[in-house]
Amino acid sequence: MYLSINQLVIVVYSILVHGYQKGNGKMYLLPMIQLKLIVLDGQLKQKYSTKVEFDLELPEFRTKRGVIRKCNDVVVAPVLMWVKALDLALDKLRASGCDLSLVAGICGCAQQHGSVYWKNNASDLLSNLDPGRFLHADLATAFSLMESPVWMDSSTSLYCRKLEDSFGNSEKLAQTTGSRAYERFTASQIAKVYDTKPGIYQITERISLISSFLASIFIGGYASIDHSDGSGMNLLDIKNRKWCGEALEAVAPGLKEKLGEVVENLTVLGQIAPYFVQRYGFNPECKVVSFTGDNPASLAGMNLGAGEVAISLGTSDTVFLSLEEGTGGLLGHVLCNPVDSSLFMGLICFKNGSLTRERIKNLCVGESWDKFNQILETTDVGNYGYIGLYYDLTEITPHIQGEYRFDPDGNLISKFPAPEMDVRACIESQAIRLRLYSERLGYSSGHSSSILITGGASSNTAILQIISNVFNAPVYTLDLPDSACLGAGYMAAYALRQSDERIPFYDYINQISGRKRCLLCTPDETACKVYMQLVSKYRDCENKAFGIYYSRLTP
Ligand code: ADP
Repeated sequence: MYLSINQLVIVVYSILVHGYQKGNGKMYLLPMIQLKLIVLDGQLKQKYSTKVEFDLELPEFRTKRGVIRKCNDVVVAPVLMWVKALDLALDKLRASGCDLSLVAGICGCAQQHGSVYWKNNASDLLSNLDPGRFLHADLATAFSLMESPVWMDSSTSLYCRKLEDSFGNSEKLAQTTGSRAYERFTASQIAKVYDTKPGIYQITERISLISSFLASIFIGGYASIDHSDGSGMNLLDIKNRKWCGEALEAVAPGLKEKLGEVVENLTVLGQIAPYFVQRYGFNPECKVVSFTGDNPASLAGMNLGAGEVAISLGTSDTVFLSLEEGTGGLLGHVLCNPVDSSLFMGLICFKNGSLTRERIKNLCVGESWDKFNQILETTDVGNYGYIGLYYDLTEITPHIQGEYRFDPDGNLISKFPAPEMDVRACIESQAIRLRLYSERLGYSSGHSSSILITGGASSNTAILQIISNVFNAPVYTLDLPDSACLGAGYMAAYALRQSDERIPFYDYINQISGRKRCLLCTPDETACKVYMQLVSKYRDCENKAFGIYYSRLTP
């Protein structure tokens, strides 16, 4: 999930003409490497879905997995490709039989961090879209930068250091903005545009995130950036939920005006632009709700309560938490919570997730996950004290690469007594890592905690059992695909609810959708005790591995 998919989601939330009653007969019409439109019905179930795959359906932009990789770590996406994808997707949605006049509201989410640069006077183009023409034809001259930097871009280290230096150090920046400076974050990307293309920066009247750029098209004017997506920029003071003047000044002159106001999540931005009414038959009363980033939208889709942690076991492993405190540190990211303005969300991503598990599986037992699971189920909890750490790719946290095996006394060894011990060592160390870093972000394991699991490896109950034992918490799944997409749909439904009750977001969504969690495993008391002991041992081994890695780097 996090950082593993290059995707955009537009969610349009709609109603059925007949039976437009509160909570009854409603159809929540809605609309990533693709742009996807989803339609939810009155029970918030998916009714229609359509998508446009960038590489396949828009080959003229010559992207691979939706982006163009240039030299020197530069990764961009053609902004007009996104606009054209929206043209195509809306046509497809209408052709699939979806009556767009029933749309009550639109919300959406998009990959975080990427930025879109609108040229001087582009607001005139936006507010005068011609319903007889495609969006991409009318907006062809609207952008000062035709290729938007996206989250995969890592060419901005210089600007990261400058930003951190302007705050004194990385920790101070993280305390205010929720994260230390990251290359993909929008602040450093904008600083690079200003430094290397000053002429472009000068003729830019507005800078949007990808989410607010999409919302801007729907409202026919500049849409504000919301608090949650805004906290992935290194520019927002996340506690005060305002732009941070110090960061803005350090990045580029006049930036505040170019970013516009930041708004609370779930803000109704306004009515849909006349273009969509005339060209696609949307209802002029259809509302547009502030769009957000894919990670906050995922949190909204996962129904994550206090004391709970969501773990996505995808290509990379990602942990999501709902947090009460908004103090960012050097670890992971703290963002404004998308569904409760008094809360925050924590997020940490590990690059070495499924691909590492898969490599160990292939090495030890070949292709079969069943054989891999047999080993997990028939070997001793705790691996007799042997610990293995596997970082096939240079990990984000800790910043380290390589394989490290330790005997029960904590001595580095080149291999385990039996080769298949790598299977258990890999899963146990990954699970302990998830717990340790979740705790550092603010998670506290206790009787009320539980884990919500998603991602490709969430079908593997042998792996989940180990996670359950390490966290001493039950593991649930929501059994719903596309949590980001659904989350944006839920946000539209909640923002446009008929009642003015101050019902909490998840209560409202659960009430309407009737969705339930599915229990996958419960912790085993004896195994939990073994892992309690192993956590500190794991921490020592990780520190040792870190020292070894850096001693090897320095001649
Ligand atoms: P992404 O992060 O790209 O969305 P997914 O969430 O679809 O990826 O997860 C894909 C990964 O799931 C694959 O790399 C694969 O190793 C892993 N996977 C699929 N089935 C299993 C299984 N039964 N056990 C463990 N891992 C699995």
